[in-house]
Amino acid sequence: MTDALSKQAVDPIAKRLGYASDQDLVLHLPLRYEDETRLTPLHQARPGETVTVEGVIVHAEVQPRPRRQFVIELSDPSAAVPRPAARLFARWLHFYPSQVAQLKAGVRLRLHGEVRPGLFGAEMVHPRYRLVQADTPLAATLTPVYPSVAGLGQTAIRRAVDRALRSADLTDTLPADIPRDLSLPAYAEAIEVLHHPPPDIDRLALERRTHPAWRRLKFDELLAQQLSLRRHARARAALAAPALTGGEALAERLLAGLPFRLTRAQARVWDEIRADLACGRPMHRLLQGDVGSGKTLVATLACLPAVASGWQAAVMAPTELLAEQLYSKLREWLTPLGINLVWLAAGLRGRARQAAFAAITTGEAQIAVGTHALIQEAVTFPRLALAIVDEQHRFGVEQRLALRTKGGAPHSSPLTPHLLMMSATPIPRSLAMSYYADLDVSTLDELPPGRTPVATKLINQARRAEVIARLHDYCLAGAQAYWVCPLVEASEKLQLKAAEAAYAELSAALPDLRLGLVHGRMKAVEKSAVMEAFKAGDMHLLVATTVIEVGVDVPNAGLMVIEHAERMGLAQLHQLRGRVGRGRRESTCILLYAEPLSATARQRLRIIHEHTDGFVIAREDLRLRGPGEFMGARQSGTPWLRFASPEWDGDLLEAARQLAEQLLDRHTPAVDRHLARWLPRGLDYLQV
Ligand code: ADP
Ligand code: MG
Repeated sequence: MTDALSKQAVDPIAKRLGYASDQDLVLHLPLRYEDETRLTPLHQARPGETVTVEGVIVHAEVQPRPRRQFVIELSDPSAAVPRPAARLFARWLHFYPSQVAQLKAGVRLRLHGEVRPGLFGAEMVHPRYRLVQADTPLAATLTPVYPSVAGLGQTAIRRAVDRALRSADLTDTLPADIPRDLSLPAYAEAIEVLHHPPPDIDRLALERRTHPAWRRLKFDELLAQQLSLRRHARARAALAAPALTGGEALAERLLAGLPFRLTRAQARVWDEIRADLACGRPMHRLLQGDVGSGKTLVATLACLPAVASGWQAAVMAPTELLAEQLYSKLREWLTPLGINLVWLAAGLRGRARQAAFAAITTGEAQIAVGTHALIQEAVTFPRLALAIVDEQHRFGVEQRLALRTKGGAPHSSPLTPHLLMMSATPIPRSLAMSYYADLDVSTLDELPPGRTPVATKLINQARRAEVIARLHDYCLAGAQAYWVCPLVEASEKLQLKAAEAAYAELSAALPDLRLGLVHGRMKAVEKSAVMEAFKAGDMHLLVATTVIEVGVDVPNAGLMVIEHAERMGLAQLHQLRGRVGRGRRESTCILLYAEPLSATARQRLRIIHEHTDGFVIAREDLRLRGPGEFMGARQSGTPWLRFASPEWDGDLLEAARQLAEQLLDRHTPAVDRHLARWLPRGLDYLQV
């Protein structure tokens, strides 16, 4: 390590709180405050109130019974009220001999704590106390109570924070007129107010974090996030990308061959993408659209300008099963147009693999479809113009980051390829605006016509036999169904066992039906053989693990049973349910749940039962879990917004967005100063 900061010994308190530098203590903000700026006369100390009182010890003793404890009695020598009323007991169940020696009759004490009704009058149990003189001044500001870790006392933290406040650089990163125009205080003032609020401060605003001091820090944090992300976006926009203008004729032929027309949303998004591809700068676009909104067709259209101008496109999905579905759809649509596609996945071996590699490196393959093997393999695309990533939320965080920073598969062209990411997990607008500030977002907000809404039923596991009987009748009437096995987080092996058990049970219970089983541990070829058979109508019932969660498309399947639905997340349930309701028949999704239900599980089931719109479900999910969990931040190790919430601080977010653009336009040193304070050690908010 070379920077001066890391050589400097870190304050031991900062270290224990998990910080890497003293500077972090400045932003270690109080959870709440105690008011020690006023004394409550002893006779006015009411049970239930938390107060600071002062008195002189009139009696102190260690009582052996009913439990060894140290008790003192205080009285107020200045009180006009006689002693029984103006007295208070303090009680310690854990104490040191030194304490007993110190707290003797005649000593003047200041106590802070909650008053409780005691046997002999008002008392405090384990109050905070200090020895004082009659003229010891009261605290001038509210006393902060900081988040702590086991064994670390408030006094130690307060001292460490105060020391950090004295030594840290609190100069404003922004020119003074900026906070002033937003009615926000200077940085130093905000910090000081939050650590040491004056007694007359608006306590409610402080608690609700709506006080201007809080808003200043939230604003600064959001600004850092916007600066960081918009700077990425600008750096990318400065790169050159192939300008892809052709493809109209191919698109017309493709659309003419379809049995349906583009939805208005598809047409709009297709225009947005076409404009991006033509402009000569790398596209960086997220296409979000609910399950079944027709993203695959949009992706297919997006490939055409690349193909028409002699470039290559790479289309990737997170799992082999999904990639294969994608491949078969693209092949169905594009082979008639004379376009050459190749399949590339990690499972591909020997000759087939070499042939695929060769087709890609000679440029003969115009489109390659596969899993992330496409990114990781040594194969290089000589003329890659476009990388498309389907179901991008399912990729691991690392892969998503790699995609977002580097933009897709390896290529040898000096031009940067365009990147289109697709996701069926809609991100509420507020989160998209903050965390995705480096992306352009397109939304398919309309489903193709003719979908029948899925009826969702919540059924107790106890009625399982009834459900199986119903499944039987349903399948015999000519329709197909899915049975989704319980999620077993602990291990894939257990998950497989559960799937095999369900398959055996259902096979025995439904001897006149044809069943298939598909799970994550199967070889890709086996999986796709089962899927093909199901698609072709050769099976009534497909027993599956959550591998069918995304992308699977079988219009004749109109019933889905999900076992132990209470274990699954909202996004997952919504995606699973999206597998049915794709054809003309009435569709049903049965959520089997087992009691007892946790409060959150109950809420999740209620939400999925009441709503079918993916955006509404996402919003509820966000409300239930908070942004960190919602976006999968826990595992990512990238910094999260600590103070601001894009949901609640929308006005600050909007202001931060505008200011970030202005500051970046002006190339002012404020940008680096601000990022150095909020994103030390080179961290950034880039996160998918
Ligand atoms: P997703 O957005 O979940 O990936 P898909 O692309 O798999 O959705 O589309 C779901 C189904 O809708 C597919 O069978 C697809 O062929 C069909 N589809 C796509 N666009 C339209 C449209 N405009 N009209 C009717 N059906 C469509
Ligand atoms: Mg899809």
